[in-house]
Amino acid sequence: MTQAIDRPQTSVETASTAPTFSALRCRECGEIYELGAKHVCEDVCFGPLEVMYDYDTIRQRVSRESISSGPKSIWRYKDFLPVATDTPIDVGTGMTPLVKANRLARRLGLKSLYIKNDAVNMPTLSFKDRVVSIALTRAQELGFTTVSCASTGNLANSTAAIAAHAGLDCCVFIPSDLESGKVLGTLIYGPTVMAVKGNYDQVNRLCSEVANSHGWGFVNINLRPYYSEGSKTLGYEVAEQLGWQLPDHIVAPLASGSLFTKIYKGFQEFIKTGLVDDKAVRFSGAQAEGCSPISQAFKEGRDFVSPVKPNTIAKSIAIGNPADGIYALDIARKTKGNIEDVTDAEIVDGIKLLAETEGIFTETAGGTTIAVLKKLVEAGKIDPDETTVAYITGNGLKTQEAVQGYIGEPLTIDPKLDSFERALERARTLERLDWQQVLV
Ligand SMILES: *Cc1c(COP(=O)(O)O)cnc(C)c1O
Ligand SMILES: [Zn+2]
Repeated sequence: MTQAIDRPQTSVETASTAPTFSALRCRECGEIYELGAKHVCEDVCFGPLEVMYDYDTIRQRVSRESISSGPKSIWRYKDFLPVATDTPIDVGTGMTPLVKANRLARRLGLKSLYIKNDAVNMPTLSFKDRVVSIALTRAQELGFTTVSCASTGNLANSTAAIAAHAGLDCCVFIPSDLESGKVLGTLIYGPTVMAVKGNYDQVNRLCSEVANSHGWGFVNINLRPYYSEGSKTLGYEVAEQLGWQLPDHIVAPLASGSLFTKIYKGFQEFIKTGLVDDKAVRFSGAQAEGCSPISQAFKEGRDFVSPVKPNTIAKSIAIGNPADGIYALDIARKTKGNIEDVTDAEIVDGIKLLAETEGIFTETAGGTTIAVLKKLVEAGKIDPDETTVAYITGNGLKTQEAVQGYIGEPLTIDPKLDSFERALERARTLERLDWQQVLV
C-alpha cells in the first residue's frame, strides 16, 4: 500500500524541490551563519538573523498558477518559506477569509475595507498557527524533540496544539496573569505549562536562559529566524485574495513588531518575483496605550524604542521591550503610514464594533486594530478612497473577560407566550431609550 503512493525520487524531482534558502544573515552587519538554531549575530554585532533565499530560483519555480493550484494552506507558498521537507506539518493553517467589510466601511466612512480574518485560523484561532507551523517543521528538520516558547497566550496555544499533532514534547512559558481561555486552550493539549510570576518580558528573559541550558527548540527564541517567516503568509494571502494585487493601506497590531515587518517583506517578495505589480503600500501599526513603546517612539520622532512596563487588557500584544520595534518604526515611516495607540475602553468598543457590523468576534488585539483604524480614519490619516486591509489576528472567545459587563444580558423568560411578549416589549422600550440617548 505504502509503496503504491511513494513516488520514486528522480533527479528532476529533487532539483525542482531543492530548498530555496541557503543561510542565515545578520540584519545589521550582513555576517553569514549556517542554517542552525540561532537567532543573534553572536560573532559580530548581536543583531537579529534572517533567512536568506535564492530569489532567482524562486522566480523560476513559482507562478500565480502554481500557487493557486497548491494546497489550501500556508504551504501553497512553500518556496518562500524556510523548510526543506516535502511533508511539512500541515494542520490546515492559513488561507483564512479576506472579508469585504461593507458595513464597517460605511460606519467609518471608507469606500473599500477588508478584514483579514485570522480569528478563524487553524488549529487554535490566531495568526500564531502560521509561525508555529513553520517553526515546528523546521525544529523537526534540525532534530529537536522538545519544543518550547515564551508566550503572551496565543503562541502557547499554538505551540502546544501543533506539537501534539507532530508528536513533539512541549513545555511552554506564560505570564501567570493570562486570561483563563488562553490557559485552558494550552493545557488541553497536555504540555508542561510554566506560569511565571512576571510580565512577558521577564518570561522571555527566563526562556533565553533555558534555551541556552536545555537545548530545546524555542519557537520565538533560537528558532526565531524561521518562526518569524511564517507571518509573510499574511502578506501573500492578501495579495492573492485581492486578485494578485496589493492594497493601498494595511493596519496591523504590533507586539514585538515581527508580524508587521513580515507582512511588508511578503509584499516585497511578491513584487520581486513578479507575482504582483509594484505598489507603494502604506503600513499603519496598532498598540494599546497601556503598552505602546513603538507608538510613543513614532510620535516623538525617535529611531529607538524605550522599554515600558505593560498595563493593558490587550495581553496578547503586551510586549514592553519589542525585538523588532525599530524595524516596524522604519516601515511605518518610509511607507507614510502611522503608528497609533488606543485606551482599553476604546479596545472594548473596537471589539463590539467589529462584532456588530461584520459578525466577527475578535480578541483584544483585534479590538486594538479596529479602534486604531477608526482613530486614523477620523484623523484623516487613512483616505476614504484607499483600499484598506485590517488584520484581525485572534479570536474573541479566548478573551471573554475583556467584554464581560459591556455586552448586555439575555432576557430570561417563562416558557409561555405572554412572558415572551412582555419581554419583547421591554426590550423594544429599552432600545428606544438607547436611541433617544444617542439623539440627545
Ligand atoms: C502575537 C500576536 C500579535 C503580534 O505579534 P508580533 O509578531 O510579536 O508583533 C498580534 N495579535 C495577536 C492576537 C497575537 O497573539
Ligand atoms: Zn551582525
